[in-house]
Amino acid sequence: MVGTMTYEGAQWNAGLEVLHALVQSGEEAYFVGGCVRDALLGRRASDIDITTSAAPELVMRLFPDALPTGLKHGTVTVRRAGFFFEVTTFRQEAGYSDGRRPDEVFFVRDVREDLARRDFTINAMAAGADGGIVDPLGGVTDLRASAVRAVGEPAQRFGEDALRIVRCVRFAAEFGFAVDGPTWAGVLACRDKLGLIAMERIGAELDKMCAGQDPGRAFGLLLAAELPERFKAPLPGTWLAGLRLAARETEGVSRGDRADGGSDPGEGRGLARYVPIRADADLRWAALLLAGRASKADAEDVLRRLHFASKRMKRVAAVIGLHAGLDAGSEEESLRRSWTLAVLDYGTEAAADWLRLFEDGAVREAHGIPEALRSAAPGWTAALPAARISELAIRGDELAALSGEPAGPWIAIALRELLEQVALGALANDAQSLREAFMRKRRAT
Ligand code: ATP
Ligand code: MG
Repeated sequence: MVGTMTYEGAQWNAGLEVLHALVQSGEEAYFVGGCVRDALLGRRASDIDITTSAAPELVMRLFPDALPTGLKHGTVTVRRAGFFFEVTTFRQEAGYSDGRRPDEVFFVRDVREDLARRDFTINAMAAGADGGIVDPLGGVTDLRASAVRAVGEPAQRFGEDALRIVRCVRFAAEFGFAVDGPTWAGVLACRDKLGLIAMERIGAELDKMCAGQDPGRAFGLLLAAELPERFKAPLPGTWLAGLRLAARETEGVSRGDRADGGSDPGEGRGLARYVPIRADADLRWAALLLAGRASKADAEDVLRRLHFASKRMKRVAAVIGLHAGLDAGSEEESLRRSWTLAVLDYGTEAAADWLRLFEDGAVREAHGIPEALRSAAPGWTAALPAARISELAIRGDELAALSGEPAGPWIAIALRELLEQVALGALANDAQSLREAFMRKRRAT
Protein backbone atom coordinates (compact mmCIF):
# COMPACT_ATOMS: atom_id res chain seq x y z
CA MET A 1 0.00 0.00 0.00
CA VAL A 2 1.33 3.41 -0.94
CA GLY A 3 0.62 6.96 0.14
CA THR A 4 -0.15 8.36 -3.29
CA MET A 5 -2.40 7.18 -6.06
CA THR A 6 -1.30 6.04 -9.47
CA TYR A 7 -4.00 6.05 -12.08
CA GLU A 8 -3.94 3.36 -14.72
CA GLY A 9 -6.54 2.03 -17.05
CA ALA A 10 -9.45 3.35 -19.05
CA GLN A 11 -11.78 3.96 -16.10
CA TRP A 12 -9.31 6.11 -14.15
CA ASN A 13 -8.34 7.99 -17.32
CA ALA A 14 -11.96 8.80 -18.03
CA GLY A 15 -12.32 9.93 -14.40
CA LEU A 16 -9.24 12.14 -14.76
CA GLU A 17 -10.88 13.88 -17.73
CA VAL A 18 -13.82 14.73 -15.51
CA LEU A 19 -11.51 16.06 -12.76
CA HIS A 20 -9.56 18.16 -15.26
CA ALA A 21 -12.69 19.74 -16.71
CA LEU A 22 -13.80 20.77 -13.21
CA VAL A 23 -10.36 22.08 -12.23
CA GLN A 24 -10.08 24.06 -15.46
CA SER A 25 -13.26 25.89 -14.60
CA GLY A 26 -11.62 27.02 -11.37
CA GLU A 27 -13.15 24.42 -9.02
CA GLU A 28 -11.65 21.74 -6.84
CA ALA A 29 -12.33 18.10 -7.68
CA TYR A 30 -11.21 14.75 -6.22
CA PHE A 31 -11.83 11.06 -6.43
CA VAL A 32 -13.37 10.08 -3.13
CA GLY A 33 -14.53 7.28 -0.86
CA GLY A 34 -14.49 3.59 -1.75
CA CYS A 35 -12.47 4.00 -4.96
CA VAL A 36 -9.57 5.67 -3.11
CA ARG A 37 -9.68 3.07 -0.35
CA ASP A 38 -9.76 0.19 -2.83
CA ALA A 39 -6.94 1.63 -4.96
CA LEU A 40 -4.71 2.03 -1.89
CA LEU A 41 -5.45 -1.58 -0.98
CA GLY A 42 -4.55 -2.67 -4.50
CA ARG A 43 -8.11 -3.74 -5.17
CA ARG A 44 -10.00 -2.86 -8.28
CA ALA A 45 -12.73 -0.28 -7.66
CA SER A 46 -16.22 -1.01 -8.90
CA ASP A 47 -17.28 2.58 -9.32
CA ILE A 48 -15.40 5.83 -9.06
CA ASP A 49 -17.07 8.69 -7.21
CA ILE A 50 -16.01 12.30 -7.53
CA THR A 51 -16.43 15.14 -5.06
CA THR A 52 -16.15 18.77 -6.11
CA SER A 53 -16.54 22.35 -4.96
CA ALA A 54 -18.61 23.04 -8.07
CA ALA A 55 -22.33 23.54 -7.54
CA PRO A 56 -24.52 20.93 -9.24
CA GLU A 57 -25.80 23.50 -11.74
CA LEU A 58 -22.25 24.24 -12.85
CA VAL A 59 -21.51 20.49 -13.17
CA MET A 60 -24.62 20.18 -15.35
CA ARG A 61 -23.44 23.05 -17.51
CA LEU A 62 -19.89 21.70 -17.86
CA PHE A 63 -21.15 18.27 -18.91
CA PRO A 64 -24.16 18.77 -21.16
CA ASP A 65 -25.07 15.07 -21.24
CA ALA A 66 -24.93 14.75 -17.41
CA LEU A 67 -27.94 13.24 -15.65
CA PRO A 68 -29.42 15.03 -12.62
CA THR A 69 -29.60 11.81 -10.59
CA GLY A 70 -29.71 13.40 -7.15
CA LEU A 71 -29.72 17.11 -7.73
CA LYS A 72 -31.22 17.92 -4.33
CA HIS A 73 -28.28 16.21 -2.62
CA GLY A 74 -25.80 17.66 -5.06
CA THR A 75 -25.28 14.54 -7.16
CA VAL A 76 -24.98 14.55 -10.93
CA THR A 77 -24.02 11.53 -13.02
CA VAL A 78 -21.43 12.25 -15.71
CA ARG A 79 -20.62 9.87 -18.51
CA ARG A 80 -17.16 9.63 -20.05
CA ALA A 81 -15.81 6.96 -22.40
CA GLY A 82 -18.64 4.63 -21.47
CA PHE A 83 -18.05 4.97 -17.72
CA PHE A 84 -20.43 6.66 -15.30
CA PHE A 85 -19.20 8.93 -12.52
CA GLU A 86 -21.26 10.27 -9.66
CA VAL A 87 -20.11 13.85 -9.15
CA THR A 88 -21.28 15.26 -5.83
CA THR A 89 -20.80 18.78 -4.55
CA PHE A 90 -18.88 19.05 -1.24
CA ARG A 91 -21.60 18.78 1.36
CA GLN A 92 -22.44 18.38 4.98
CA GLU A 93 -25.47 16.86 6.59
CA ALA A 94 -27.45 17.86 9.64
CA GLY A 95 -30.19 16.80 11.98
CA TYR A 96 -30.60 13.06 11.64
CA SER A 97 -33.79 13.12 13.71
CA ASP A 98 -35.10 9.82 12.30
CA GLY A 99 -31.91 7.74 12.66
CA ARG A 100 -31.63 7.04 8.97
CA ARG A 101 -31.30 10.17 6.87
CA PRO A 102 -30.32 13.80 7.32
CA ASP A 103 -33.07 16.39 7.71
CA GLU A 104 -30.93 18.77 5.76
CA VAL A 105 -27.90 18.73 3.47
CA PHE A 106 -25.96 21.84 2.64
CA PHE A 107 -23.04 22.56 0.36
CA VAL A 108 -19.68 23.53 1.85
CA ARG A 109 -16.50 25.03 0.43
CA ASP A 110 -13.89 22.74 1.98
CA VAL A 111 -13.33 19.14 0.92
CA ARG A 112 -12.38 18.27 4.50
CA GLU A 113 -15.86 19.13 5.68
CA ASP A 114 -17.24 16.75 3.07
CA LEU A 115 -14.89 14.00 4.25
CA ALA A 116 -16.00 14.52 7.84
CA ARG A 117 -19.60 13.52 7.02
CA ARG A 118 -18.51 10.08 5.78
CA ASP A 119 -18.87 6.91 7.81
CA PHE A 120 -15.41 5.39 8.35
CA THR A 121 -11.92 6.85 8.10
CA ILE A 122 -10.98 4.38 5.37
CA ASN A 123 -13.94 5.71 3.34
CA ALA A 124 -13.10 9.34 4.04
CA MET A 125 -10.12 10.00 1.80
CA ALA A 126 -10.01 12.09 -1.36
CA ALA A 127 -7.38 11.94 -4.11
CA GLY A 128 -6.58 14.72 -6.58
CA ALA A 129 -5.63 14.48 -10.23
CA ASP A 130 -1.94 14.66 -9.24
CA GLY A 131 -2.34 11.58 -7.03
CA GLY A 132 -2.03 13.48 -3.76
CA ILE A 133 -4.28 12.22 -0.99
CA VAL A 134 -6.39 14.43 1.23
CA ASP A 135 -6.65 12.50 4.47
CA PRO A 136 -7.52 14.69 7.45
CA LEU A 137 -9.08 11.80 9.41
CA GLY A 138 -6.23 9.32 9.29
CA GLY A 139 -7.66 6.88 6.77
CA VAL A 140 -4.24 5.85 5.46
CA THR A 141 -3.06 5.05 8.98
CA ASP A 142 -6.15 2.94 9.62
CA LEU A 143 -5.75 1.15 6.29
CA ARG A 144 -2.17 0.32 7.28
CA ALA A 145 -3.38 -0.82 10.71
CA SER A 146 -6.22 -2.86 9.14
CA ALA A 147 -8.79 -1.09 11.27
CA VAL A 148 -12.36 0.05 10.72
CA ARG A 149 -12.78 3.25 12.69
CA ALA A 150 -15.79 5.54 12.68
CA VAL A 151 -15.29 9.15 11.67
CA GLY A 152 -15.90 11.24 14.78
CA GLU A 153 -17.76 10.04 17.84
CA PRO A 154 -18.94 6.49 17.02
CA ALA A 155 -22.20 6.42 18.97
CA GLN A 156 -23.21 9.76 17.49
CA ARG A 157 -22.43 8.63 13.94
CA PHE A 158 -24.19 5.27 14.30
CA GLY A 159 -27.12 7.06 15.92
CA GLU A 160 -27.43 9.41 12.92
CA ASP A 161 -27.75 6.54 10.49
CA ALA A 162 -27.98 3.04 11.91
CA LEU A 163 -27.19 1.45 8.55
CA ARG A 164 -23.59 2.39 9.32
CA ILE A 165 -23.64 -0.34 11.99
CA VAL A 166 -24.16 -2.97 9.32
CA ARG A 167 -21.69 -1.30 6.97
CA CYS A 168 -19.09 -1.45 9.74
CA VAL A 169 -19.44 -5.22 9.84
CA ARG A 170 -19.32 -5.44 6.06
CA PHE A 171 -16.09 -3.48 5.72
CA ALA A 172 -14.43 -5.43 8.55
CA ALA A 173 -15.28 -8.72 6.86
CA GLU A 174 -14.51 -7.52 3.35
CA PHE A 175 -10.98 -6.37 4.15
CA GLY A 176 -10.21 -8.74 7.01
CA PHE A 177 -9.93 -5.75 9.34
CA ALA A 178 -10.45 -5.44 13.06
CA VAL A 179 -13.11 -3.06 14.31
CA ASP A 180 -11.54 -0.43 16.51
CA GLY A 181 -12.59 -0.63 20.19
CA PRO A 182 -14.65 2.57 20.57
CA THR A 183 -16.23 1.91 17.17
CA TRP A 184 -17.34 -1.57 18.24
CA ALA A 185 -18.64 -0.11 21.49
CA GLY A 186 -20.63 2.35 19.36
CA VAL A 187 -22.07 -0.54 17.34
CA LEU A 188 -23.28 -2.20 20.53
CA ALA A 189 -24.58 1.04 22.02
CA CYS A 190 -26.63 1.99 18.95
CA ARG A 191 -27.82 -1.39 17.70
CA ASP A 192 -31.38 -0.88 18.94
CA LYS A 193 -31.76 1.81 16.28
CA LEU A 194 -31.45 -0.80 13.52
CA GLY A 195 -35.24 -1.13 13.60
CA LEU A 196 -35.46 2.29 11.93
CA ILE A 197 -33.71 1.12 8.79
CA ALA A 198 -35.64 -0.11 5.76
CA MET A 199 -35.13 -3.82 5.17
CA GLU A 200 -34.20 -3.21 1.51
CA ARG A 201 -31.11 -1.35 2.64
CA ILE A 202 -30.21 -4.01 5.20
CA GLY A 203 -30.79 -6.70 2.58
CA ALA A 204 -28.48 -4.96 0.11
CA GLU A 205 -25.70 -4.75 2.71
CA LEU A 206 -26.12 -8.40 3.76
CA ASP A 207 -26.10 -9.48 0.15
CA LYS A 208 -22.84 -7.59 -0.43
CA MET A 209 -21.42 -9.39 2.61
CA CYS A 210 -22.49 -12.69 1.17
CA ALA A 211 -20.98 -11.90 -2.22
CA GLY A 212 -17.79 -10.57 -0.60
CA GLN A 213 -14.51 -11.93 0.66
CA ASP A 214 -15.60 -13.50 3.93
CA PRO A 215 -19.33 -14.09 4.41
CA GLY A 216 -18.65 -16.43 7.33
CA ARG A 217 -16.94 -13.74 9.35
CA ALA A 218 -19.51 -11.14 8.32
CA PHE A 219 -22.31 -13.28 9.71
CA GLY A 220 -20.19 -14.18 12.72
CA LEU A 221 -19.87 -10.49 13.54
CA LEU A 222 -23.56 -9.82 12.94
CA LEU A 223 -24.36 -12.62 15.37
CA ALA A 224 -21.72 -11.61 17.91
CA ALA A 225 -23.24 -8.13 18.07
CA GLU A 226 -26.78 -9.59 18.04
CA LEU A 227 -27.79 -7.39 15.14
CA PRO A 228 -30.17 -9.56 13.05
CA GLU A 229 -32.66 -9.91 15.88
CA ARG A 230 -32.90 -6.11 15.94
CA PHE A 231 -33.75 -5.54 12.30
CA LYS A 232 -37.10 -3.98 11.50
CA ALA A 233 -38.15 -7.42 10.25
CA PRO A 234 -36.05 -9.56 12.62
CA LEU A 235 -34.53 -12.63 11.02
CA PRO A 236 -36.01 -15.91 12.37
CA GLY A 237 -34.64 -16.76 15.79
CA THR A 238 -34.47 -20.50 15.13
CA TRP A 239 -32.15 -19.94 12.19
CA LEU A 240 -29.99 -17.49 14.15
CA ALA A 241 -29.77 -19.98 17.03
CA GLY A 242 -28.77 -22.69 14.55
CA LEU A 243 -26.08 -20.45 13.09
CA ARG A 244 -24.70 -19.67 16.53
CA LEU A 245 -24.47 -23.36 17.28
CA ALA A 246 -22.75 -24.01 13.97
CA ALA A 247 -20.31 -21.16 14.62
CA ARG A 248 -19.46 -22.48 18.05
CA GLU A 249 -18.88 -26.03 16.81
CA THR A 250 -15.98 -24.85 14.71
CA GLU A 251 -15.00 -21.59 16.39
CA GLY A 252 -11.28 -21.59 17.02
CA VAL A 253 -11.13 -18.11 18.50
CA SER A 254 -12.93 -16.82 21.53
CA ARG A 255 -15.06 -13.74 21.03
CA GLY A 256 -14.83 -10.17 22.20
CA ASP A 257 -11.63 -10.70 24.14
CA ARG A 258 -9.50 -7.88 22.87
CA ALA A 259 -8.06 -5.62 25.52
CA ASP A 260 -9.76 -2.55 24.02
CA GLY A 261 -13.08 -4.33 23.54
CA GLY A 262 -12.78 -4.21 19.74
CA SER A 263 -13.44 -7.01 17.37
CA ASP A 264 -10.54 -9.06 16.05
CA PRO A 265 -10.26 -10.27 12.47
CA GLY A 266 -10.31 -13.81 13.87
CA GLU A 267 -13.66 -13.34 15.50
CA GLY A 268 -16.58 -15.00 13.82
CA ARG A 269 -14.40 -17.26 11.72
CA GLY A 270 -16.42 -20.27 12.85
CA LEU A 271 -18.96 -19.99 10.05
CA ALA A 272 -16.44 -19.61 7.26
CA ARG A 273 -16.05 -23.35 6.78
CA TYR A 274 -19.69 -23.70 5.86
CA VAL A 275 -19.56 -21.22 2.98
CA PRO A 276 -18.41 -22.26 -0.51
CA ILE A 277 -16.29 -19.26 -1.42
CA ARG A 278 -15.97 -20.35 -5.05
CA ALA A 279 -19.74 -20.39 -5.50
CA ASP A 280 -21.96 -17.41 -6.28
CA ALA A 281 -23.85 -15.35 -3.69
CA ASP A 282 -27.08 -17.35 -4.01
CA LEU A 283 -25.33 -20.59 -3.14
CA ARG A 284 -23.48 -18.91 -0.29
CA TRP A 285 -26.85 -17.83 1.07
CA ALA A 286 -28.05 -21.40 0.73
CA ALA A 287 -24.97 -22.59 2.63
CA LEU A 288 -25.52 -20.13 5.48
CA LEU A 289 -29.19 -21.03 5.67
CA LEU A 290 -28.31 -24.73 5.81
CA ALA A 291 -25.58 -24.10 8.38
CA GLY A 292 -28.29 -22.73 10.67
CA ARG A 293 -30.58 -25.66 9.81
CA ALA A 294 -33.14 -23.51 8.04
CA SER A 295 -36.03 -25.32 6.41
CA LYS A 296 -37.20 -24.33 2.95
CA ALA A 297 -39.94 -22.23 4.56
CA ASP A 298 -37.39 -20.54 6.88
CA ALA A 299 -35.19 -19.79 3.89
CA GLU A 300 -38.05 -18.17 2.02
CA ASP A 301 -38.90 -16.22 5.14
CA VAL A 302 -35.34 -14.91 5.57
CA LEU A 303 -34.92 -13.91 1.94
CA ARG A 304 -38.36 -12.34 1.72
CA ARG A 305 -37.62 -10.23 4.79
CA LEU A 306 -34.43 -9.08 3.10
CA HIS A 307 -36.39 -8.15 -0.05
CA PHE A 308 -34.72 -10.58 -2.39
CA ALA A 309 -36.05 -10.82 -5.93
CA SER A 310 -38.36 -13.79 -6.15
CA LYS A 311 -36.23 -15.47 -8.80
CA ARG A 312 -33.25 -15.60 -6.47
CA MET A 313 -35.41 -16.62 -3.55
CA LYS A 314 -36.81 -19.53 -5.54
CA ARG A 315 -33.36 -20.64 -6.60
CA VAL A 316 -32.07 -20.69 -3.03
CA ALA A 317 -35.25 -22.34 -1.72
CA ALA A 318 -35.01 -25.07 -4.36
CA VAL A 319 -31.50 -26.05 -3.26
CA ILE A 320 -32.63 -26.15 0.35
CA GLY A 321 -35.75 -28.12 -0.49
CA LEU A 322 -33.68 -30.60 -2.44
CA HIS A 323 -31.20 -30.88 0.40
CA ALA A 324 -33.99 -31.53 2.90
CA GLY A 325 -35.25 -34.39 0.77
CA LEU A 326 -31.95 -36.26 0.84
CA ASP A 327 -31.52 -39.36 2.92
CA ALA A 328 -28.75 -38.76 5.42
CA GLY A 329 -28.07 -42.52 5.69
CA SER A 330 -25.24 -44.27 3.98
CA GLU A 331 -26.98 -47.08 2.13
CA GLU A 332 -26.22 -46.55 -1.54
CA GLU A 333 -29.71 -47.62 -2.62
CA SER A 334 -31.56 -45.27 -0.31
CA LEU A 335 -29.18 -42.41 -1.10
CA ARG A 336 -29.81 -42.89 -4.80
CA ARG A 337 -33.56 -43.13 -4.32
CA SER A 338 -33.75 -39.97 -2.23
CA TRP A 339 -31.50 -38.09 -4.68
CA THR A 340 -33.64 -39.15 -7.62
CA LEU A 341 -36.90 -38.12 -5.97
CA ALA A 342 -35.39 -34.80 -4.87
CA VAL A 343 -34.25 -34.11 -8.44
CA LEU A 344 -37.79 -34.79 -9.67
CA ASP A 345 -39.20 -32.46 -7.03
CA TYR A 346 -36.78 -29.55 -7.48
CA GLY A 347 -35.30 -30.00 -10.95
CA THR A 348 -31.92 -30.60 -12.47
CA GLU A 349 -30.84 -26.97 -12.01
CA ALA A 350 -31.32 -27.22 -8.26
CA ALA A 351 -29.39 -30.50 -8.41
CA ALA A 352 -26.51 -28.81 -10.25
CA ASP A 353 -26.62 -25.98 -7.68
CA TRP A 354 -26.48 -28.47 -4.81
CA LEU A 355 -23.46 -30.17 -6.36
CA ARG A 356 -21.72 -26.81 -6.83
CA LEU A 357 -22.49 -25.84 -3.25
CA PHE A 358 -20.83 -29.00 -1.96
CA GLU A 359 -17.97 -29.22 -4.44
CA ASP A 360 -15.41 -28.28 -1.81
CA GLY A 361 -14.42 -31.06 0.59
CA ALA A 362 -14.12 -28.81 3.65
CA VAL A 363 -17.58 -27.35 3.02
CA ARG A 364 -18.97 -30.89 2.70
CA GLU A 365 -17.35 -31.88 5.92
CA ALA A 366 -18.73 -28.85 7.77
CA HIS A 367 -22.23 -29.72 6.59
CA GLY A 368 -21.79 -33.45 7.17
CA ILE A 369 -22.44 -34.46 3.55
CA PRO A 370 -21.52 -38.09 2.85
CA GLU A 371 -18.73 -38.24 0.30
CA ALA A 372 -20.49 -41.18 -1.40
CA LEU A 373 -23.49 -38.99 -2.16
CA ARG A 374 -21.52 -36.10 -3.61
CA SER A 375 -19.39 -38.32 -5.82
CA ALA A 376 -22.20 -40.56 -7.08
CA ALA A 377 -24.95 -37.97 -7.54
CA PRO A 378 -23.78 -36.48 -10.87
CA GLY A 379 -23.79 -39.97 -12.39
CA TRP A 380 -27.24 -40.68 -11.00
CA THR A 381 -28.59 -37.46 -12.50
CA ALA A 382 -26.96 -38.13 -15.86
CA ALA A 383 -28.38 -41.65 -15.93
CA LEU A 384 -31.97 -40.53 -15.33
CA PRO A 385 -34.10 -41.72 -18.28
CA ALA A 386 -36.37 -38.73 -17.58
CA ALA A 387 -36.00 -35.91 -15.08
CA ARG A 388 -39.20 -34.04 -15.86
CA ILE A 389 -42.68 -34.76 -17.09
CA SER A 390 -41.96 -33.24 -20.49
CA GLU A 391 -39.32 -35.93 -21.02
CA LEU A 392 -41.82 -38.77 -20.65
CA ALA A 393 -42.68 -40.63 -23.83
CA ILE A 394 -46.37 -39.99 -23.21
CA ARG A 395 -48.43 -36.84 -22.86
CA GLY A 396 -51.30 -35.85 -20.64
CA ASP A 397 -53.86 -35.70 -23.45
CA GLU A 398 -53.07 -39.31 -24.33
CA LEU A 399 -53.83 -40.36 -20.77
CA ALA A 400 -57.13 -38.49 -20.97
CA ALA A 401 -57.96 -40.26 -24.25
CA LEU A 402 -56.96 -43.67 -22.84
CA SER A 403 -59.11 -43.25 -19.78
CA GLY A 404 -62.01 -41.57 -21.56
CA GLU A 405 -62.20 -39.10 -18.70
CA PRO A 406 -62.15 -35.32 -18.98
CA ALA A 407 -58.81 -33.72 -18.36
CA GLY A 408 -58.23 -32.45 -14.82
CA PRO A 409 -55.70 -32.22 -12.04
CA TRP A 410 -55.57 -36.02 -11.97
CA ILE A 411 -53.45 -35.96 -15.14
CA ALA A 412 -50.53 -34.17 -13.48
CA ILE A 413 -50.68 -36.67 -10.63
CA ALA A 414 -50.72 -39.66 -12.98
CA LEU A 415 -47.83 -38.28 -15.04
CA ARG A 416 -45.82 -37.64 -11.90
CA GLU A 417 -46.37 -41.25 -10.78
CA LEU A 418 -45.17 -42.52 -14.14
CA LEU A 419 -42.16 -40.19 -14.03
CA GLU A 420 -41.22 -41.50 -10.62
CA GLN A 421 -41.28 -45.11 -11.79
CA VAL A 422 -39.27 -44.28 -14.90
CA ALA A 423 -36.70 -42.28 -12.92
CA LEU A 424 -36.34 -45.04 -10.35
CA GLY A 425 -35.76 -47.57 -13.13
CA ALA A 426 -38.95 -49.54 -12.52
CA LEU A 427 -40.48 -48.68 -15.87
CA ALA A 428 -39.15 -48.13 -19.39
CA ASN A 429 -39.68 -44.69 -20.91
CA ASP A 430 -41.50 -45.77 -24.06
CA ALA A 431 -45.10 -45.06 -24.99
CA GLN A 432 -46.22 -48.67 -24.89
CA SER A 433 -44.81 -49.39 -21.40
CA LEU A 434 -46.17 -46.11 -20.07
CA ARG A 435 -49.67 -46.78 -21.46
CA GLU A 436 -49.68 -50.26 -19.95
CA ALA A 437 -48.49 -49.03 -16.58
CA PHE A 438 -51.14 -46.33 -16.59
CA MET A 439 -53.95 -48.76 -17.44
CA ARG A 440 -52.70 -51.30 -14.86
CA LYS A 441 -52.82 -48.63 -12.21
CA ARG A 442 -56.34 -47.57 -13.27
CA ARG A 443 -57.66 -51.11 -13.11
CA ALA A 444 -56.09 -51.58 -9.67
CA THR A 445 -57.79 -48.52 -8.19
P1 ATP B 1 -18.51 -0.33 -1.90
O1 ATP B 1 -19.11 0.42 -3.06
O2 ATP B 1 -17.30 -1.09 -2.20
O3 ATP B 1 -19.52 -1.07 -1.14
P2 ATP B 1 -18.13 2.29 -0.91
O4 ATP B 1 -17.22 2.82 0.16
O5 ATP B 1 -17.94 2.83 -2.28
O6 ATP B 1 -17.99 0.74 -0.86
P3 ATP B 1 -20.81 3.25 -1.11
O7 ATP B 1 -22.03 2.75 -0.44
O8 ATP B 1 -20.70 3.10 -2.59
O9 ATP B 1 -19.59 2.54 -0.41
O10 ATP B 1 -20.65 4.78 -0.67
C1 ATP B 1 -19.67 5.63 -1.22
C2 ATP B 1 -19.08 6.51 -0.12
O11 ATP B 1 -20.09 7.32 0.48
C3 ATP B 1 -18.46 5.74 1.04
O12 ATP B 1 -17.12 5.41 0.78
C4 ATP B 1 -18.59 6.73 2.18
O13 ATP B 1 -17.58 7.70 2.11
C5 ATP B 1 -19.90 7.41 1.87
N1 ATP B 1 -21.05 6.75 2.52
C6 ATP B 1 -21.85 5.80 2.01
N2 ATP B 1 -22.81 5.46 2.84
C7 ATP B 1 -22.67 6.22 3.94
C8 ATP B 1 -23.38 6.36 5.16
N3 ATP B 1 -24.45 5.60 5.42
N4 ATP B 1 -22.93 7.26 6.05
C9 ATP B 1 -21.86 8.04 5.78
N5 ATP B 1 -21.14 7.96 4.65
C10 ATP B 1 -21.54 7.06 3.73
MG1 MG C 1 -19.20 2.36 -3.96
